[in-house]
Amino acid sequence: MKTCNFCGNKNFVSKNVDYIYKHHGRFMLFEGVPCEECTYCGERYFEADTLKKVEFDFFEVLNEKRQPSRKIEMPVEVFAA
Ligand SMILES: [Zn+2]
Repeated sequence: MKTCNFCGNKNFVSKNVDYIYKHHGRFMLFEGVPCEECTYCGERYFEADTLKKVEFDFFEVLNEKRQPSRKIEMPVEVFAA
């Protein structure tokens, strides 16, 4: 039985979520990534194999070994209160 590192909760729900991989200022959005989410604080836990696959796919696309499913344009703004 695992415990949330942040809040100590022991209840998790399996979900598929959006995950943004970032590496040296490059970003790639992965949709439908499986994780376990803490039902109390919402912290997400990914399997090591899942993160390895994300990293592998990121470099495949970065090195133009294959095309991503699609590309999106993302607005950027510096937060100012
Ligand atoms: Zn938690």
